[in-house]
Amino acid sequence: MRLLARPAVLIALAVCLLHNTNSTMAGGLASNEHFVVLATDQALADAVLAKATALGQQLSRDWLGKPLPSNLIRRPCIHATLSDSEDQGTTWIDLANGRQYGMVWVTSSRERLLGSTLAHEVCHLVLAYGCQGEGELPAWATEGAASLQDNRELVEIRERTLRSFAQNDRWPSLYSILEKPSIGVTDHSSYCIATSLTEYLLSCGDKSRVVRFALAGKQKGWDQAVVEHYKLQNVQELQNAWQTWANRRVRTAERETPIRSDLSTGTTKRRS
Ligand SMILES: [Zn+2]
Repeated sequence: MRLLARPAVLIALAVCLLHNTNSTMAGGLASNEHFVVLATDQALADAVLAKATALGQQLSRDWLGKPLPSNLIRRPCIHATLSDSEDQGTTWIDLANGRQYGMVWVTSSRERLLGSTLAHEVCHLVLAYGCQGEGELPAWATEGAASLQDNRELVEIRERTLRSFAQNDRWPSLYSILEKPSIGVTDHSSYCIATSLTEYLLSCGDKSRVVRFALAGKQKGWDQAVVEHYKLQNVQELQNAWQTWANRRVRTAERETPIRSDLSTGTTKRRS
């Protein structure tokens, strides 16, 4: 999730709303108690709304153990644009001090607008709105969860990054990712750490435990959160356990499905 700086947000929002005003007349608008969707055409708006609602309900049950909220002051708005050449998604959320603003911009093929690109951004919305009142999830947790929805191409980039950590025995410090306030769209290393840490934690417990751990770590400190939620002594022990898990995963992947080396990370447009 790319969190835009406030002036940029206001400008982007203004541009979006102006654009929405025009595109709505020629395009599509659909809404229910969970989302408002503005799209290139009415059929796409209806389809995106149905898909976002189904995805949102599933993700909310999986990660938070509850249905999507339906009593929102302001429903999040999803702006969907068809494109044959782009695959981009951005989410902006402001839920501080009782505010309730959420915007998603997705630009992609019809397949991905109704698939992985939409799912990634809807996951950000679900986690942020679902945790409102309990705290704000750290960047690694929300990106780790959302990235589990990504397409195969992005998964392969992260697998190659994880393999480079293992082969060179050069592992990034988990402290740095746990404390990272945001993850840049081209920061493949941080996406890899966030996603693989989330996957490792899911091998130890369910999704709601990852959420509780992430909220607790931000409030109480990571060493205490690790003790309370995963029965480990401190973050260093988590680091060792994650590396052991990752080494095993890389070796298994190398034996079973060698990762293609002809895919360039530079040609992949990742989303936030
Ligand atoms: Zn994201």
